[in-house]
Amino acid sequence: MRIWSGCMANKTVIDLLEDFSFRHAKIDQENERRMKNDAEIMKLEEQKRALLAEKLKRAFLAEDAAGFDGEIAELGRRQDEIARAKGLLIPYACPACRDTGLVGRKYCACFLREVYQSIYGAADVDALTESFERADMSVFDGEKELAMGKTQRALAELAYGICKKYVDAFPDTPRLNLLLRGKAGLGKSYLLRCVASAAKKRGIDVCLIRAGELFGAFFRHRMGEEMPLSFLQDAQLLLVDDLGTEPMTQNVTTEYLFDLLNRRLEAGRHTAVATNVDDLQGRYGERISSRLESRECAVLMLDGTDLRLRR
Ligand SMILES: [Zn+2]
Repeated sequence: MRIWSGCMANKTVIDLLEDFSFRHAKIDQENERRMKNDAEIMKLEEQKRALLAEKLKRAFLAEDAAGFDGEIAELGRRQDEIARAKGLLIPYACPACRDTGLVGRKYCACFLREVYQSIYGAADVDALTESFERADMSVFDGEKELAMGKTQRALAELAYGICKKYVDAFPDTPRLNLLLRGKAGLGKSYLLRCVASAAKKRGIDVCLIRAGELFGAFFRHRMGEEMPLSFLQDAQLLLVDDLGTEPMTQNVTTEYLFDLLNRRLEAGRHTAVATNVDDLQGRYGERISSRLESRECAVLMLDGTDLRLRR
């Protein structure tokens, strides 16, 4: 299953809004064409036009024309009813925004998903197959006791349980943020995807992005390209996978990461990060490590054998 677009498209927010409005207009046009081909609907259309003409005439003569509006609206309603009953209309992909990308003056959740994927190269959360329900704990070793007196499975169960509670309680989570730590191959990405798909199911606006793509966006912003960062700052739940695998770029990595984490912390927005970096302070400095490991953050540790070697 391909959930990563692989590369960022060179689309801007304006491009995306135009794509949406084009899609909306195309459906409207097609539906109009279909309604025009229906005799029953067109008969009502003639009545509507006659009423409209009469209304205009009365208004021109300064006579009372108010009574027509109700009748005209009623005819419109009947036309829609007929079209629906006959299955004439193509539905919008998103009924909430009718494929315009906007609900009132706010961006629709479907539009935000498109922004995360096409602008930042985030994961397609709709295509995730991972879930808490399907997670198989038997892949973790339940025999050997590790340094902290727990087996690999016990540590995983603990982490999965806390993550599940986190999504269930959202937005009133016990801690604002999550930090998943552990070496590569211990299931951190899988767990983060479980969080993403459960959050999506709950209707939470979630952005799941790998550090490589995240820092790619930072870098392009730094280079003066059109790259808005506000959507990363404002996402209801931001999940960053593989922190530590990105290349370190001077004047970008720590500055931008600090700014993002700090803004989200100050705005009370939820962030979860998975990393195999042991020494966060050594890599990112004290300002960032203190934000990642703050009191606002539940730190979960995975340990044991690389799952890819066990299979
Ligand atoms: Zn929508």
